[in-house]
Amino acid sequence: MVDLDVVVVGAGFSGIYAVHAFRSAGLTVRAFEAGDGIGGTWFWNSYPGARCDVESKDYSYSFSPELEQEWSWSERYPAQPEILRYLNHVADKFGLWPHIQLNTRVTGAGWDAATASWRVSASDGATLTARFLVSAAGCLSELQVPDLPGLAEFDGAWYHTSRWPKEGVDFAGKRVGLVGTGSSGIQVAPEIAAAAEHLYVFQRTANFAVPNRNRPWAEAEERAFKSGYREYRAEARESFLGVPITGTGRPVLDEPPQDVQRLFTERWEAGGGMPFLGAYTDVLVSQAANDVVAEFMRDRIREIVADPAVADLLCPRGYPVGAKRLCQSDDYYAMFNQANVSLVDIRSTPIESAYPGGLKTTTDSYDLDALVFATGFDALTGALFAMDIRGAGGVPLRSAWATGAQTYLGLATAGFPNLFIITGPGSPSVFSNMVLSIEQHVEWVRDCIAWLRSHGHATIAPTAAAQSAWMEHVSEVAYATLFPKADSWYVGANIPGKPRVFTSYLAGCGPYRAKCDAVAAAGYEGFALGGS
Ligand code: FAD
Ligand code: NAP
Repeated sequence: MVDLDVVVVGAGFSGIYAVHAFRSAGLTVRAFEAGDGIGGTWFWNSYPGARCDVESKDYSYSFSPELEQEWSWSERYPAQPEILRYLNHVADKFGLWPHIQLNTRVTGAGWDAATASWRVSASDGATLTARFLVSAAGCLSELQVPDLPGLAEFDGAWYHTSRWPKEGVDFAGKRVGLVGTGSSGIQVAPEIAAAAEHLYVFQRTANFAVPNRNRPWAEAEERAFKSGYREYRAEARESFLGVPITGTGRPVLDEPPQDVQRLFTERWEAGGGMPFLGAYTDVLVSQAANDVVAEFMRDRIREIVADPAVADLLCPRGYPVGAKRLCQSDDYYAMFNQANVSLVDIRSTPIESAYPGGLKTTTDSYDLDALVFATGFDALTGALFAMDIRGAGGVPLRSAWATGAQTYLGLATAGFPNLFIITGPGSPSVFSNMVLSIEQHVEWVRDCIAWLRSHGHATIAPTAAAQSAWMEHVSEVAYATLFPKADSWYVGANIPGKPRVFTSYLAGCGPYRAKCDAVAAAGYEGFALGGS
């Protein structure tokens, strides 16, 4: 006797929708969430300045027209507390709370071939069995703190942006060190600088950031937009990134330079990263085209930052713009004009250690009262490995993926029957408006389970052949672009010892959705079906 139809791991955007969708399909479900609240990314990343970088009219569920109409976003890019309120509202509205167990981490999951079910162990000591295991554990949920000698002896408090204290942090009168200048670091820095006596930004790699031009979403604008929401969503689903973007459809290298400058200036003034990188067709595939955009952005940095030496250090070089996630901020570069902010170049003079009073680089010591790590995540695979999943024959997922993640369609992996991964490696995932990608995956899994039942199958797992053909295709598409060129979390370069592979699917959300639908329509082609 199996306890449940589905165990869902995690209760962020993915887990919340999975619980709703599976329950609506008549399945018994329980979601386990390690945190003491739902929301995932938007529960944990409560650092000041945290906000989405995809507009919330896009970065919100599309499955319920009623929800879409009744919820009002206050801004173009709302801050973390508002997104978290939205997710709690969704759980209230759809009655999901009884099916979500908070404060409980899934610590192990093993496939039992005899009963064709998963045996799942949780941090509260319970074990239970389920026909299907659905990981909604997040691509960016397993945080990473640098292994810094002396950190344990540091006298001040230290924080990671993804485990921010819920009561907030008062930096008034403090000397604060910030390590990390990715999207999180760039968002939190101006907030710390506004409060602290002094902020030292320890920069290893300079990052490109475009303005948000964040602003309130006026009622009239919202009303007008919402009258066409369904059509807009339909267009988004078929689009490349899960957000309809208007590009010129032409290569930048064929354009007169003055036209290029005019268009980039317009898009810089309008704000947002996707319209910027999507303006021309060759920006992410040709280094020469990419250099045009990169130089435009470096010019803007030099305009904004008063001290030429600081501006020069802030100018990203050595990797294509967009190949690390393009950051968004209205005030990051200008912050360096404040007298209480210093930029420390830890590329040429790396941090050696912490000491009780601060941080030591190879050339200097910095006395600090507090440290903030915005040092990112063990992305894409970190949370999956942490829960110790063992497939057929007890093989750990970590071993099966020792040379890099292997999936079919980013949804499932050979040797791990009845395991589905929401926005797994091998799917567009982090290269898309993730909420639409999450919905697509959850609905595909829901429909797959219903089909298995109606066709009398108990198990499903990709064939090794379909999986390796898919991963070859993923790789072929990716290596025709500039994305793999940067040392980013996209390729695992931020985690010492992680295999360097690019596993996101870059052929676009619309074509990917069509491929997933075609596989389903062909009776789950590429999957082995078993049992009854
Ligand atoms: P998560 O939100 O990461 O939720 C996973 C949950 O699973 C977590 O709550 C975690 O505690 C739980 N969990 C993990 N392992 C276990 C376990 N073993 N047992 C129990 N629970 C477990 N994407 C965009 O498209 N647009 C944006 O603007 C955007 N902004 C972002 C801003 C930040 C600061 C970050 C970090 C990411 C951002 N992302 C953005 C990506 C974002 O992660 C996704 O958009 C989305 O929120 C992911 O939802 P999820 O439910 O799949 O994963
Ligand atoms: P990240 O992009 O991986 O950036 C981590 C930063 O820390 C980088 O500057 C990195 O430098 C630095 N770093 C890491 N380890 C270090 C070490 N040992 N010593 C010194 N510096 C170190 O992480 P993130 O900023 O948290 O963002 C992760 C992803 O989350 C983003 O790419 C985005 O997808 C999402 N996110 C989105 C938003 C948003 O705007 N909505 C906000 C936050 C996060 P190197 O570059 O040299 O490695």
